[in-house]
Amino acid sequence: MSEQNCIFCSIINKKIPATVVVENDDVLVINDIHPKAPVHYLVIPKKHVPDFMMLTDDSMLHNVREMIQKIGASLPGQAFRLLVNNGAGAGQSVFHLHVHMLAGKTMGGF
Ligand code: AMP
Ligand code: ZN
Repeated sequence: MSEQNCIFCSIINKKIPATVVVENDDVLVINDIHPKAPVHYLVIPKKHVPDFMMLTDDSMLHNVREMIQKIGASLPGQAFRLLVNNGAGAGQSVFHLHVHMLAGKTMGGF
């Protein structure tokens, strides 16, 4: 399912460019265009769901989990941070569900 005017759907459909880290049939991983850490990936399920609250398909979570664990296994110390912004009030700016995956020495703490 693809939504018009969704930047991540456009990236998934290769209509606009992005730096692809890895992808499979269900999940695309790209570099965030404004990285907040030395490693800042966006883990994006290919099916369009606007936000976490709209997520009902558990297989999407399964697919995202598998991808994050595959990438995480190759990061130093398997150290990384996951973040999902839900809603504009929480800082969500792209309304296609995605998980931020951050890593690196200057990632900082809370
Ligand atoms: P969020 O604020 O949680 O919705 O995250 C959206 C993220 O998408 C932000 O960190 C943006 O920097 C990133 N972003 C927006 N447009 C692009 C793009 N064309 N390519 C890569 N990352 C993008
Ligand atoms: Zn989309």
